[in-house]
Amino acid sequence: MKRAMLIAGNWKMYKGPSEAQAFCAAFAPPRGVDVVLLPAFPALAATVESGTTVFAQNVHWEDEGAFTGEVSASMLHELGVVGALVGHSERRQLFGETDDGVARRVAHALEAGLHVIACVGETGEERERGQMEEVLRRQLSVLQRHERLAVAYEPVWAIGTGVTATPEQVQAAHAFVKGLVDVPVLYGGSVKPDNAAELLAQPGVDGALVGGASLDVASFTAICETASALRS
Ligand code: PEP
Repeated sequence: MKRAMLIAGNWKMYKGPSEAQAFCAAFAPPRGVDVVLLPAFPALAATVESGTTVFAQNVHWEDEGAFTGEVSASMLHELGVVGALVGHSERRQLFGETDDGVARRVAHALEAGLHVIACVGETGEERERGQMEEVLRRQLSVLQRHERLAVAYEPVWAIGTGVTATPEQVQAAHAFVKGLVDVPVLYGGSVKPDNAAELLAQPGVDGALVGGASLDVASFTAICETASALRS
C-alpha cells in the first residue's frame, strides 16, 4: 500500500491561541492522511493540546543563546512540537534567510530529533529566465537525505497569489527534485479544495503545504479528504 500523503497547514502570522483552539475543536482530520498544523509561536501550545501533530514555522540552529526573536528545537520539543518548517520563501524574501542559514537550521533540527519540511522554489523571474532547475539544485544542495526530512516545492510566484502551477509544471518540478533528493516532496502554492485533486494526483507529489486554504476548517478538511481518497 502507498504511504499516506502529508497535508501541512501553514497558518503564517494568523490565529492566536483562542482562534487556534476554535479551529482544532471543529477540525476532525480524516483517516488515511497525515495532517500537520503550523501555527505561529504563541498558538503552538494550544494547538498541541488539541492532539493534532504540530510543527513550528521556523527553528534556530543553536539550542540557546543571544538570538532575539528566535526559538530552539529543545524549546519546541518541550512544548510537544515535533517538527519545523524551514526556508519558507517569505523567510527568504522578507527576512533575509539564506541557503546557508537554511542548511544550519535543517541540520540542527534533524539532529535534535525534529521532523523538517524544507521549502524550495523559484521566483517568477527565475522561471522566466529558465533558471528553475539551477535554483532548485542550489537550494537542495545544502540538504542531506534524512528519514525525518520532507521537501516542499513551492514556486514563489504561486504562493498566496491564487495562481497555481499547472499539473505539467508540478510534475516536471517534482521529478527534478526527486532526482536530486530521495525524500517525500509536497507541493505548495495556492492549493485549494477545487484544485487539490488534480495537483495531488500528479506523479511525485506526496502531499501539500497549504497556506490560505488551511485557515478555514471546511477548506482544509476538504483538501485532507481529497488526499486521503487518493491513497486509499
Ligand atoms: C504557503 O504559505 O506555503 C502557501 C503555499 O500559501 P498559499 O497556499 O496561500 O499559496
